[in-house]
Amino acid sequence: MSKLRKIKAIANLGKHFWIHVFRRLVSKPKPGEEKRKFLEYYSGDKITALTAGDREALFEYQKCINCGTCARVCPVYAPAAHGHYRAPDSIAASLSRSFPEFGAARDAVYNCTQCGACALECPRGIDVPGLIMLVRRKSAQADAELIRNTFRERLQTLEKHGTAHGAPAADFSAYKKQGAEFVFFTGCAGRTFAADETRKTLDLLTVLGVNFTVVDDACCGGFHRSAGLLEPDSAVARAAAQRILDTGAAQVVTACPHGLYTMRTHPAYRDIRARHVLELLNSLDFKLAADARTAAYHDPCFLGRRLGVCDAPRELIARAGASLTELPGNRERTVCCGSQDGEFTLDPAVARAMAAERAAHAAATGADILLTACPACRKAFAQAAPNLTALTVSEYIADRYKA
Ligand code: SF4
Ligand code: SF4
Repeated sequence: MSKLRKIKAIANLGKHFWIHVFRRLVSKPKPGEEKRKFLEYYSGDKITALTAGDREALFEYQKCINCGTCARVCPVYAPAAHGHYRAPDSIAASLSRSFPEFGAARDAVYNCTQCGACALECPRGIDVPGLIMLVRRKSAQADAELIRNTFRERLQTLEKHGTAHGAPAADFSAYKKQGAEFVFFTGCAGRTFAADETRKTLDLLTVLGVNFTVVDDACCGGFHRSAGLLEPDSAVARAAAQRILDTGAAQVVTACPHGLYTMRTHPAYRDIRARHVLELLNSLDFKLAADARTAAYHDPCFLGRRLGVCDAPRELIARAGASLTELPGNRERTVCCGSQDGEFTLDPAVARAMAAERAAHAAATGADILLTACPACRKAFAQAAPNLTALTVSEYIADRYKA
């Protein structure tokens, strides 16, 4: 650049800087004026009507400074190959500045597993997964055709077979009874691909003398939540909550972190006390056969990060005397394995790469077994790293129970 052009460029910059300062001085916005203008800008709803709550939420996202921290911690961004996934920073930044991009972000938001890692690290405290769910909800309300295909296929499966994972669904009638204190909610996973784990857990609860019954014919609504279809008056969640209340049990326990999160956050479950089955098991007195192996424990995102249930699984593993090794990224800073929401949304190759990376973390610690508290995480590890023994903590406990 010639010297003259440089001088001109600097002078131009200086001119605009002082014009900006002058404008701010003479037209200083009144308190609340900027917010009002921002909300007005968002009033031309391009997809579907925004509620007052939606507008407030969108105003929150205006805080994004596009620092890129969320993209750095997002477990999907790297394996999905940059460019094929608009990372959370680009979603947050575009939606915080330009309403017309609301629709443009739609496809990208289906790559998110809702793991919550970005929200934890965002220096502006922005709930990026919440923003992503807002876009999914608005898309679903506008037109069911806008919901990603993989979700729509699962919805058909759910309608046809009664579970998001299809047939055959196991039958746990033999465990059902009247007058129970606890109700075990199997969820879709617990009566399909994780039916064996469920049976082991129910047998353990039986020998431990827990007075329980089972609900094995309802979907909690977690799948609908992920698809953006779970509204406060959701019939699916209300039906499941009613099935639980009809048993008359004081508490519901489940082995599924996804289901537990739905029960702890959706208004349909407001009268229900829900816990992970490991929390119940950890409150009971029993002995386990000693284990000399080293175990690594993977915190499922919905259980460890979102619900803060981190100690019960570790304390149960410690009862067997196994040497517990911590993974890089544990407790609320766990690393998503690509299952749970990822199972419905991600390209299977991306989900497998995420599970393989997490399994590699465990292998690098020298652990003999990898334990987790979610049937979907366990399944993901078994598929991505078949040489590593992966178990849920409840089946590990059931296997080592000593009468
Ligand atoms: S959402 Fe938060 S972490 Fe992500 S770019 Fe914006 S300010 Fe940074
Ligand atoms: S919730 Fe997880 S997967 Fe979704 S954008 Fe944030 S870090 Fe990425």
